[in-house]
Amino acid sequence: MRQPMEGPIVLARRLRKVYHGADEVEALRGIDLLVERGEMIAIVGTSGSGKTTLLNCLSGLDVFDGGQVVIDGQDLSKMSDRARTAYRSRHMGFVFQAFNLLPVLSAAENVEIPLLLQGAGTRDSRRRALEMLDTLGLAHRANHRPDQLSGGEQQRVAVARALIHKPAVVWADEPTGNLDSEVTNVIVELLARMNQTGQTIVLVTHNPQVAERAARTVRMRDGRIEAPEPERVQGVAL
Ligand code: ADP
Ligand code: MG
Repeated sequence: MRQPMEGPIVLARRLRKVYHGADEVEALRGIDLLVERGEMIAIVGTSGSGKTTLLNCLSGLDVFDGGQVVIDGQDLSKMSDRARTAYRSRHMGFVFQAFNLLPVLSAAENVEIPLLLQGAGTRDSRRRALEMLDTLGLAHRANHRPDQLSGGEQQRVAVARALIHKPAVVWADEPTGNLDSEVTNVIVELLARMNQTGQTIVLVTHNPQVAERAARTVRMRDGRIEAPEPERVQGVAL
């Protein structure tokens, strides 16, 4: 499937995004970012600096207006909408602040969705979902619906869902924003443990305690990423 196994896993160059609402907002003003395979990086910056927009554009959730995003050797700007959607569901995992689990499905059913979307068989998908829940200490919650779980448990289920199909990148946008500090630690340790097994993770956070667990932090300000990131990116051949 995806197989250039060399070069950065994420490369963004001069990425631009403008929102055309009542007022025009230049949310991304020429972003350069390089993420190595297996890295866990934290993107920090004040509210409104463009972190969510950046994650959405890098991960193919949203389209952008200029520049280039290359994920694992694939140029997102050269893909059709349909190809980008398919690529995203196969090769990316997402964790959001609001958990975003499907309310009518059990924990196990939520976790197996990415596998089913990849075309895996139902029995195999269920087995792998239960294994993943077990790894995250949630075997006893497999048949619970989200409203029968605590916030921390819901987010662990969301992390399980993000990881189950071994995505190229897990994108996490303020994943601990709705959690108290004890549960925040559980989630961050979980992400760090998955990173130690080679999972690439790009994390947006306000929380210094969370950012500190990442190997590297980049700071956004007003739609730009601060030095030295742009200098690193300029040197990479595409
Ligand atoms: P952050 O995640 O760092 O708080 P965002 O990426 O959400 O920042 O927002 C960056 C800028 O873009 C802000 O000025 C915000 O108001 C604006 N923005 C975000 N989403 C939209 C949208 N859908 N339409 C118009 N403006 C938006
Ligand atoms: Mg945000």
